[in-house]
Amino acid sequence: MITKKTICRTLLSFTIFMLICFPLLAVEKIRISTQQREPAVWDKNARSVTNRIEQWKPEETAIIVCDMWDKHWCKHSTVRFAELAVALNPVLNAAREKGVLIVHSPSDVMTFYKDYPQRKESQKYADESLKPLTDGSPLPLEKGQKFPIDASDEGCECTPKCKIYRAWTRQTETITIGEHDLISDLGTELGGYFKEKGIKNVILTGVATNMCVMKRPFGIRTMKKLGLNVVLMRDMTDVMYNPAMPPKVDHFSGLDLMVNYIETFVCPSIVSTDITGKKPFRFSDDRRKRIALVIAEGEYHANQRLPEFAEELTRKNYHCGFALGVPRMNGEGRHNIENLQILEDADLMILYARRRALAPEKMAMIKEYVASGRPIFAIRTSSAAFDAQKPIKDEQGNVLEQWKEFDKDILGGNYQGYDSDLRKQGTGTDVTIVAGKENHPLLKGVQPFHCQDWMYKNTPLRSDKAEVLLRGKNPKLEEPVLWTNGSNAVYTSLGHWDDWTIDSYKTLTHNIVEYLLNDSQK
Ligand SMILES: [Zn+2]
Repeated sequence: MITKKTICRTLLSFTIFMLICFPLLAVEKIRISTQQREPAVWDKNARSVTNRIEQWKPEETAIIVCDMWDKHWCKHSTVRFAELAVALNPVLNAAREKGVLIVHSPSDVMTFYKDYPQRKESQKYADESLKPLTDGSPLPLEKGQKFPIDASDEGCECTPKCKIYRAWTRQTETITIGEHDLISDLGTELGGYFKEKGIKNVILTGVATNMCVMKRPFGIRTMKKLGLNVVLMRDMTDVMYNPAMPPKVDHFSGLDLMVNYIETFVCPSIVSTDITGKKPFRFSDDRRKRIALVIAEGEYHANQRLPEFAEELTRKNYHCGFALGVPRMNGEGRHNIENLQILEDADLMILYARRRALAPEKMAMIKEYVASGRPIFAIRTSSAAFDAQKPIKDEQGNVLEQWKEFDKDILGGNYQGYDSDLRKQGTGTDVTIVAGKENHPLLKGVQPFHCQDWMYKNTPLRSDKAEVLLRGKNPKLEEPVLWTNGSNAVYTSLGHWDDWTIDSYKTLTHNIVEYLLNDSQK
């Protein structure tokens, strides 16, 4: 017999079941780690590189695959795009698996797909009222800006030059088209579909960043104008750029400069790691040395100054990647650094961090890098990079890891603060070259200089290997301000935001990079 009690019990059990199971049934959000260049807080005319963590619902997210054709008129490009397709397909598969919509947008070849259900589905949502937004014209922020690479020759770097013609007939077969994917090269269709289905986030992939990815009717500019939350997947794209053209850099440095432009004026970028959990893609032809800039500091505007330095290094054909912590002295999210996986492939780590504790797996990435014997250039606050001065726990109550002896063990330093009276007085530091060290490769072209730094106390250094090259003097003290610790570690206690405008300091930072990356100098 069904009694009231039985009904109540059944309802109660059902409620408990739902409470336990519903969170498990709910679709997992995708953790997106963006990189963008925003006006710096202290100087609106300057840009700083920042990171944001967003949680995206897969059902509100689409990936647009731009112009990944079967063949390009340029031979070089055909080969590179084919390599990219092999890397891109598993990323799309992983995203589809998570519930992300995949949109295939090979321009000009829609007739090939005219009978595909994925093509017909897209056509149902055409909204001609969106047409004016799809002309690919520049965004307001881009006003007065020029792309950093000259592709007025259409970007062919082959000898002899390839003949331009419509070489494409379809999307490359390397990329799988799923049953529930879309095929469209029109913003009017995609805009209509996204609105109807509640798609809010769009990831652009494919080629080429300085052409179709930006300008097509389904490209980044259109998606921005449609009000979508757009990002570029910066490791799943390429450029049309011939290194013989300005600014005469390596093809892949040209790509990096174009990504900088997009991060500055158009939209943030991400790497495929957010979808796959794996290493970002790198073209086999990209043989540049790789520099990982680990920046987690909120006092000296390092996330503005180091990216400026990084752009100079990019123009010297080094690849520069950023692993970023929030640029704050205190507060939420401080004990985290994003994108540390770049250390795995890095040839040099440039570190400008201050008092961060890290999740053990993240600290392990730093320690693995250091243990591998690869070089480190550590700047100013980095002597206390991983010393948070007290135990730190994450939101779940897990203790985060610190590395208090980093200063002594790796840099040979002995950081003991600075004279705060002199800091207030702004007396600065006079920097001089240690007698007998004038011909050291690190000091080529470096002259004594005066700088704004309130000088760090570091005497006595704690390493037998330490070789002091620069000393600083203020009205009270004389201290080492630059030394090597063995052939693979260079530390400077300089690094005030104004230092990066002093010629000798700039020369010094470039010398340090060249020295640490070239064994022949050691
Ligand atoms: Zn070519």
